[in-house]
Amino acid sequence: MQKIYLTLALLLLSACNPFSSTTENVKDVHASFQTPPSKDGKDHMDDPAIYINKKNPEKSFILGTDKSHHGGGIHLYDLEGHEIGFARDGRMNNVDVRYNFPLKGKRIDIAVASHRDKKRMAVYEIDAETQSLKNITDPSFTFSFKPYGCCLYHNPQTDKFYFFATSTSGLVEQVELIATDEGLVSGKRVRAFNVGSKSEGCVCDDENGTLYLGEEDVALWKYDAEPSGGDVRVRIDNVGEHLKADIEGITLYKAELNKGYIIVSSQGNSTYVIYSLTPPHNYVGTFRIVGKGDIEGTEETDGIAATSFALPPHYPKGLFVAHDNRSSKAKAGKPGGSDFKLVSWESIKKVLDLVE
Ligand code: CA
Ligand code: CA
Ligand code: CA
Ligand code: CA
Ligand code: CA
Repeated sequence: MQKIYLTLALLLLSACNPFSSTTENVKDVHASFQTPPSKDGKDHMDDPAIYINKKNPEKSFILGTDKSHHGGGIHLYDLEGHEIGFARDGRMNNVDVRYNFPLKGKRIDIAVASHRDKKRMAVYEIDAETQSLKNITDPSFTFSFKPYGCCLYHNPQTDKFYFFATSTSGLVEQVELIATDEGLVSGKRVRAFNVGSKSEGCVCDDENGTLYLGEEDVALWKYDAEPSGGDVRVRIDNVGEHLKADIEGITLYKAELNKGYIIVSSQGNSTYVIYSLTPPHNYVGTFRIVGKGDIEGTEETDGIAATSFALPPHYPKGLFVAHDNRSSKAKAGKPGGSDFKLVSWESIKKVLDLVE
């Protein structure tokens, strides 16, 4: 009988302890650098993207959205978190990058963002040399809703480029990116489907033709990224054991074709959850970013981005970038403002004992 009471007591204890079960397996990593926080102390930053300069990897940089009502846009940061540029174009919510888009007989690298207040996307030509953005949006193309999250897809076989816009209603629209004669980028609607409820974060695996999408309070889903994919989907994980609502940013760490990880920001408990990129996408592990020295940890992360590309000298196995709801300045009792934290993948690989 005593044994039963003891078991019951232990069960009750573990049920009441927020750090029990899955949380005790959460591994801690530190960020190497952080970006300047939003100036008014509010959480304006949302989603990062990493631009790889293949010729000169050290000149690769980070794009970070700013959804401020006053002066929002896209910030550019170097690999040590210093701000190196800003495109002030309104409330940008999420941003993604692709390479070699055909425009007026040239191949250009592009960044595309979702505009939170207007029913449109913002398309930029990326200048690798000057580390700057040039707005090349055709303003005549609009969505049927104000886009919330977004991600890009490039089919390497057909060489077509697509943009997925997600929404707070759950409606998703896929548009093909079309170059105009004027040298701008427009869209052609090729697919629409309803996820069921509020959706923001998404990412595409170009080589495998898949779209990973978060239904914030419900589940992480996989769809076919091709316009013919309809609304057929596979559930990868539910909100519950590993993921605490909201499911926010989603990114991929692709080491080689078909090898690597899907990483999800579990905003409700400020952790990052890793699944295998290989079906059936088994759970791999969970980590969080904790403070060290002047750089504190992350809370309530929105967007994340990762690359396996070696970026010397700080990121030999690639880079992971995460939005932080409150910057270190919040500690001194002052308004903190949100920023982005830069983490070496090597440290994540080490603490989680990852293969890649
Ligand atoms: Ca992004
Ligand atoms: Ca959200
Ligand atoms: Ca923080
Ligand atoms: Ca936020
Ligand atoms: Ca967000």
